Amino acid sequence: MVDFSLTDEQLRWRSRAREFAAKHILPRTDLDTHGHFPRDLYEQAFREGFVTAAIPKEYGGGGKSLFDLVLAAEEFAYGDLGVATSTFLMLLATRAILGFGTDEQKERFIRPLTKELRFASHAWSEPEGSSNMLGRPATTTARPVDGGFVLNGTKSTISNATVASIYSVFARVDPGPPGLTCFVVPRDAKGVEATNPYRKMGQRAGDTGQVVFKDVFVPAGDQIGKIGQGAQIGLRSLRPSRVGVAAMSVGVARRARDLAKLFGHSRLIGDGNPLIQQQDFRFRLAEIETDIEMVRALTWRACWEVSSGPEATKFSSAAKLAGGNMASRVTNGVVEMLGASGYLESGLAEKLVRDSKVLQIYEGTGAIQKMLIADTVGRLGSLRSELGAK
Ligand SMILES: Cc1cc2nc3c(=O)[nH]c(=O)nc-3n(C[C@H](O)[C@H](O)[C@H](O)COP(=O)(O)OP(=O)(O)OC[C@H]3O[C@@H](n4cnc5c(N)ncnc54)[C@H](O)[C@@H]3O)c2cc1C
Repeated sequence: MVDFSLTDEQLRWRSRAREFAAKHILPRTDLDTHGHFPRDLYEQAFREGFVTAAIPKEYGGGGKSLFDLVLAAEEFAYGDLGVATSTFLMLLATRAILGFGTDEQKERFIRPLTKELRFASHAWSEPEGSSNMLGRPATTTARPVDGGFVLNGTKSTISNATVASIYSVFARVDPGPPGLTCFVVPRDAKGVEATNPYRKMGQRAGDTGQVVFKDVFVPAGDQIGKIGQGAQIGLRSLRPSRVGVAAMSVGVARRARDLAKLFGHSRLIGDGNPLIQQQDFRFRLAEIETDIEMVRALTWRACWEVSSGPEATKFSSAAKLAGGNMASRVTNGVVEMLGASGYLESGLAEKLVRDSKVLQIYEGTGAIQKMLIADTVGRLGSLRSELGAK
């Protein structure tokens, strides 16, 4: 029998994340503000071990498993999606170095992230498009020179761009073989310019910006993995992180569900009874609950697949796809369930709709997740012989 019960340690960790959200995130009314990065909140999250939870203990981090991170990310996203994204981005942003870097690189780049509040970024996307970076030559280039490379190009819509101390940058070595290569670039390197955060539709407490590299010298020792290995590094890094996005989808949907529950109990309908007793309202809540549980189950399965199973890509993409769609559907539905108050800025429901939309976009749109899933299910393998077909 598969066991879904949590250990005492997992329960304690999830309670800590839930308490953090209740005490430090939920009361904040300033989080949905353009251009405002609540650094004090991230300082607190750093002190309590959430920002560095994904970093192994040997480099000074929390050494939490992907499943632990998923538990905490759901709770933070219940509080605010922008805060959850910026807090747990370390999972994605350090993956290239931790998975493919040398011991010396890990010591040099990862350990400082655990000494004080610092951020790291995963700089893949470009203004010309991110989904097809494997199909078209990347416009960010690394020119080989004595002792290293000179980087030129622009990376756009990068989470934590303007607050990060290091970037994992994916660039094309030119002249060189086709494909991408990964480099670590400090934000304070000469020629790096991180522009002001974008004004976004939602998740405004999370920083998203553009990074321009203009004749930036990168020492050869800051190349991660081999030349041409960048695509593999980038895609491997996204697998666990997409599971985190799925968990955040559950958190956002749970918050919307709770708004609907509260409203249903307080609003009276024509017969004087609360709305919560009306069948249509109850059935909508039942569907939301089913949606939430379905995606959470898929997310937990994806954790196992990414950590030790054979179908990491399929499950991480499926959880991300299902999660983003579910959060968008649920938050939109809740706006309608709340009537006019769902539509007003003074309520929270419209913010949740705006926040949730990004769950269908970042770390690959639905189309990209479907392509990845289809690649695995479309293979014929032994199907013909199993079905006795010719
Ligand atoms: C808030 C936010 C934070 C982000 N953080 C990061 C970050 O930290 N690091 C990072 O590198 N990027 C980040 N991104 C970028 C994000 O990953 C991309 O926006 C996303 O992957 C979509 O890529 P794109 O915007 O370049 O659109 P494109 O790749 O140009 O795609 C445009 C449209 O075309 C569709 N499309 C593209 N190719 C195909 C195809 N082959 N078949 C069918 N349809 C296709 C897409 O589904 C989409 O609808 C962030 C974006 C946002 C909004």
